[in-house]
Amino acid sequence: MDFRELDSAIDAIEVFVRDFEPGLLDARGAVRAVERFAKVTHLGQAGTALAVQQVDRTHAYRESGARCAADWLARKTGVASASAFRAMETADALSELPATNAAFRAGKLSEAQAHEIAGAARKDPTAEAELVAVAARGTTMKGLKDRCRQVRASAEVDDAAWAQRLRDNRSLRTWVDPDTAPCGMWRTTPDKGAEINAALDAETDLLFRAARAAGGREAREAYAADALHALITRGPRKATGATLVMDAGVADAGFASRGQRCEIPGIGPIPVTIAKQMLATAKIRELPADPALLPDYATDRRYYPPWMLAWLDQHYPVCGVEGCDADFHLEIDHVVPKSEGGLTAIPNLWLICWYHHRLKTNEDWLVTGTTHNWDLVPPNGGPDPP
Ligand SMILES: [Zn+2]
Repeated sequence: MDFRELDSAIDAIEVFVRDFEPGLLDARGAVRAVERFAKVTHLGQAGTALAVQQVDRTHAYRESGARCAADWLARKTGVASASAFRAMETADALSELPATNAAFRAGKLSEAQAHEIAGAARKDPTAEAELVAVAARGTTMKGLKDRCRQVRASAEVDDAAWAQRLRDNRSLRTWVDPDTAPCGMWRTTPDKGAEINAALDAETDLLFRAARAAGGREAREAYAADALHALITRGPRKATGATLVMDAGVADAGFASRGQRCEIPGIGPIPVTIAKQMLATAKIRELPADPALLPDYATDRRYYPPWMLAWLDQHYPVCGVEGCDADFHLEIDHVVPKSEGGLTAIPNLWLICWYHHRLKTNEDWLVTGTTHNWDLVPPNGGPDPP
């Protein structure tokens, strides 16, 4: 094997980066530079993942006193050992996953994306090509993880075993970091997690709004930490509960077939075994997915009946703008603005995040697409493609 071509490519990149003056780039040039460097990063990660397998097979890592190849990789590349273990797992999975392997080798996937896809595609190899396409389309990491969770869920053959696994693996750990900040991490069953999230969200909202009203400008996460403390020391100020979305027939069948929903909004698909246990306490939404089956309701006022809010929440778990995965403080937007005669009616409404709502309202961004397949685009079609 000859490294000469690779070495001269690396030399060229080295010279380029050494003399790189980003201040001389215009906006489009800066975007292009980031895209190219991302590709270099991806290719480097792919090459590393492939090569380290051979380091493992030949036991070359032993020479430096490392315990295993992942340990060696962590030292060699300066990453945390958890990342090195993940890279080893990805590398192991690649030989069985041709589409992921090809896209990874072509610099189209990051190691994190390849790892996420490999985990889901091992459970359901028929979903592999679609997941690679989802990632290559530039979907956010969160969007890809959501899709991978759906794939894994519909590939679960034993619903009760999945529920039991979730229960067996619950844990909560606390520790103190080097700055003397107490930290924690938990892992729990989806029903309990949904209740925790609902209580935490409600308390965070109260604190966030009060702080904003008083001129506070800290991040939502900071108020969430205060909310956790308030909930534990004082208890909830507001009754909350988990919301379950389950299609008709799923509970009786005992499993959700592909395309059927048994999920908790904000968490994802869950075992039907757990959903059945939740039926006694959770709020169950069974609104039709098809907006044509909803009550006919239109007004020029700004009144939203509860079923309308519930339908919008269910239909837009995240911001409706393609590629945006903001999932809190979503705002109702009239596609045709009220000032231009747009009505408060399901066909004219969608949920978008605060940021995208401002772009539409104040910066003249335009809604395109068809009803409930809308997207938001810059005025005049935006910058020319590179
Ligand atoms: Zn958004």
